[in-house]
Amino acid sequence: MQSESHHPNTLGSSVLTEEQRAKLSPQDILELLKSGNKDFTEDNLTIRNNTQRVRDAAIGQYPLAVVLSCLDSRVPVEDIFHRGLGDLFVARVAGNIVNDDILGSLEYACKISGAKLILVLGHEYCGAIQSAIKDIKLGNITSLLNKIKPAITDAIKIHGSSYQLSDSNFEDLVCKFNVIQSLTQIRQGSPILKEMEKQGEIIIVGGIYNMKTGEVRFLANAF
Ligand SMILES: [Zn+2]
Repeated sequence: MQSESHHPNTLGSSVLTEEQRAKLSPQDILELLKSGNKDFTEDNLTIRNNTQRVRDAAIGQYPLAVVLSCLDSRVPVEDIFHRGLGDLFVARVAGNIVNDDILGSLEYACKISGAKLILVLGHEYCGAIQSAIKDIKLGNITSLLNKIKPAITDAIKIHGSSYQLSDSNFEDLVCKFNVIQSLTQIRQGSPILKEMEKQGEIIIVGGIYNMKTGEVRFLANAF
């Protein structure tokens, strides 16, 4: 156990303790996610004893970060960061959009439970992004997709309005602006999280998951 805290990658072999998390800064955690994603893309993964981790985690949880991800089945959040049981909070909703319940979940993860990083994770070939571009209207999907629409408007400003519905460059742009929009909404909609970020207690970042390589490209923090 003592040696594990010295090598971040080996954190994956046992459930995270409060003591281990206390030693990590938000920036350390960002580096851990980056190195974990490198392990994933290189197929350099730790074999975990999940049965033991379940027992160890039963008494409490000390996750490093909270990830707001899309619903997509091809984005297994813990796996792509080489993390396991007890390591991450994951909030999932189609199109990784923000609403009041997501904000409440992020506030819980950081302010109550001590996570030190918020990652909004978009991904390529996102069905929600594609459906919003195609202006699909169906049941409750309509109001969900409406939350993505401002990102389409932002993308048109860069790309121009003459895009094909299946244009992957345009899709990627909408995906990026949608992540940026969620980051803005987190800061605007949660004074608690904004203050934590200002005080350096947490960092709030965006990323895009590359479906073909498994790589997460982190967006520059300042926009
Ligand atoms: Zn998606």
